[in-house]
Amino acid sequence: MTYPTFFPGSRRPQQPVDLTVVREILEEQRDFRVEQLSELRQSLATGGSVAALTASGTSGSPVSMSVADSADADPHGQVAALLAQAADAALAEIEAALTRLDSGSYGRCESCASPIANERLEILPYARHCVSCQRQSQLGAGHPAGRISV
Ligand SMILES: [Zn+2]
Repeated sequence: MTYPTFFPGSRRPQQPVDLTVVREILEEQRDFRVEQLSELRQSLATGGSVAALTASGTSGSPVSMSVADSADADPHGQVAALLAQAADAALAEIEAALTRLDSGSYGRCESCASPIANERLEILPYARHCVSCQRQSQLGAGHPAGRISV
């Protein structure tokens, strides 16, 4: 057979990510998280459940609806606390990604400096690590959900 198993030209070169689009997505997500956090903190501060929050009028966004559903089974606000924690962590990641956009290091793995695959950035625009490093850190961490930043 004349087909080589591998030749350099066969690798589709990675198109550069459109940073303008990435920034828009990140800023959108940041605004969303900021809003979510302020609502959740308000709810937690008043000691009420999330149900009280949604009843006081957050214009019935899809997120509010799903939070309200969870709140029915969670009268003590534990869901709100967990949501706030997750939103806080996500917000920190989003802001870090925006900083990397400004400094020009966006889209590179923080561990091995390889470019992070576009497909990964599309799913997780604030990814710090390439897939293989992320996998490694998750294997070592034992808490995949809580280790997005390491
Ligand atoms: Zn890496």
